[in-house]
Amino acid sequence: MPARQFLTEQEEQQIVEAINTAEQKTSGEVRIHLEHHCDGDALDRAAQIFHDLGMDETKLENGVLIYIATEDHKASVYAGKGIHREVKEGFWNDVLQILITHFKQEEYEQGIEEAVHKVGNKLEELFPYRQKGDLDELSNEISFHDNKN
Ligand code: CA
Ligand code: CA
Repeated sequence: MPARQFLTEQEEQQIVEAINTAEQKTSGEVRIHLEHHCDGDALDRAAQIFHDLGMDETKLENGVLIYIATEDHKASVYAGKGIHREVKEGFWNDVLQILITHFKQEEYEQGIEEAVHKVGNKLEELFPYRQKGDLDELSNEISFHDNKN
């Protein structure tokens, strides 16, 4: 399925809303990237996108990227160093399992939203929101890439 057709406009808004809500409780930054194809390893690709989106430049290195290749049915979760070293091994895999479980039922929006919740709760625990100096460092809009190859 092409990345642009993966979610309805309304579903897209629901996800952006979930990110907004999550980021009100944490200094961390969550982003979603959807693209058509992923030839190689989904985690390698996510690491590249993470960099391309400037996600490695957040102050506390606490950005989390949820990456989905819609046509090739691949997904991965990539996190900045600041958060990665704080979470237990297996956490990212748990997040990925939420996506996979829902995607199998074709519940794309629900899967992403629940994954955002899980990541958001962890970010809140590790990087609580500070009233002063906490910025929305990265857009909450879904990032798309309609690559054809
Ligand atoms: Ca922030
Ligand atoms: Ca943000």
